[in-house]
Amino acid sequence: MNQWLLLADNVMVTVQQAEEIVFAEAGSYGVEHLPFQSAIGRVLAVPIQADRDLPPYDRVTMDGIAINYRAFEQGHTKFRITGTQAAGEHPLAIEALDECIEIMTGAALSETTDTIVRYEDVTIENGFATIHVTSIKKGQNIHRRGTDRKVNDIILNAGNLIDASAIGIAASTGQTTVAVTQLPKIAILSTGNELVEPSETPNEYQIRRSNVYAIHAILQEYNVDATILHIPDDVSVIERILSECLSAFDAIILSGGISMGKFDHLPQVLEQLHVKKLFYKVQQRPGKPFWFGKHTNGCIVFAFPGNPVSTFLCAYRYFVPWLRRSLGLITQPTKWAKLDADVVFEPQLQYFLQVKFRHTADAQLIATPVTGNGSGDYSNLADADAFMELPAEISNFKKGNIYPVWPYKAI
Ligand code: AMP
Ligand code: MG
Repeated sequence: MNQWLLLADNVMVTVQQAEEIVFAEAGSYGVEHLPFQSAIGRVLAVPIQADRDLPPYDRVTMDGIAINYRAFEQGHTKFRITGTQAAGEHPLAIEALDECIEIMTGAALSETTDTIVRYEDVTIENGFATIHVTSIKKGQNIHRRGTDRKVNDIILNAGNLIDASAIGIAASTGQTTVAVTQLPKIAILSTGNELVEPSETPNEYQIRRSNVYAIHAILQEYNVDATILHIPDDVSVIERILSECLSAFDAIILSGGISMGKFDHLPQVLEQLHVKKLFYKVQQRPGKPFWFGKHTNGCIVFAFPGNPVSTFLCAYRYFVPWLRRSLGLITQPTKWAKLDADVVFEPQLQYFLQVKFRHTADAQLIATPVTGNGSGDYSNLADADAFMELPAEISNFKKGNIYPVWPYKAI
């Protein structure tokens, strides 16, 4: 049992504790087989192996002539051309040391020749090829059989994201069907009577719901097509919709309705519906009232505070790493950047500072704070690239110090 589950009921957990509890709940949703061209963006579940030696034959890498090096060693520079071999043709052999084959890139070398002299270094006249360079290395311009991989060697391990290079590898090994991990079924629910659809015109006191669409977009990056729903701040409706979702989905993400407000019904309803609280409140800003739990049937519930920046941060800091683990993705090492200004943050909370990145010529990643108007300021996300995670125990963060970062834009 996870040690943190023994924590007293109302203890606020640290970011590290929250992370451990969330990661311990990473699921595994099985394996499915897809045509290789449909597998882009999915996670490989079974390694791709070499179906034969790579390259499968001694492959010529330059257009030119194939000779036996011994002839050149013995002083031969003029060779009678006895044949021309294109890529894809049966290898042509020579019968005497003073013979050569004109041969093209990609062709399979016969055992009678061992060296390729490129066209640029020979003169061809009246059926003879004369080498006009003095330096030739034995075995040059040949990609030897099995030097990349031997038959049955693993080329790509399980746990890798299938990208364009993986599609090429699947094609070259004849693996027209690939095994990928299955995607969890996920629902994203917004809560709040003040929220309207993006297509609607809000009245003076309403806002458009944006959080669920941002999270939906994050999930699309992982090929997960999540279901978007909305629940008003009404206990009986919340109960009904949530209990349906708890039995239909592997994980539910909620945004809003989790704090101390009079209409924040979620903590109470979730527990009534047998979702066991694994923690409530994290020592962090933004996103302190993050509630995390698990239903008796295994459904995982991430309930994020509704402020857009809080939801966004919690999604990248907790949900995405949970999803990556649940998809079987090889975990990525933490990314780090160098703070470009002094920052003071007094509260005993882990502070997720919004930063903009700059690369320097000496390969450093520099993070400049982008100050906005707090966790309600969604527009500020457009100016920043990442959250920098500043430890709770420190209040004065110095320019030049290095801290972990959680990017949400390509670095
Ligand atoms: P709550 O956590 O429900 O108290 O919401 C905190 C703030 O976030 C309120 O100002 C809400 O209007 C806002 N908010 C809640 N949910 C969303 C959402 N899905 N999209 C945009 N803003 C939201
Ligand atoms: Mg609300």
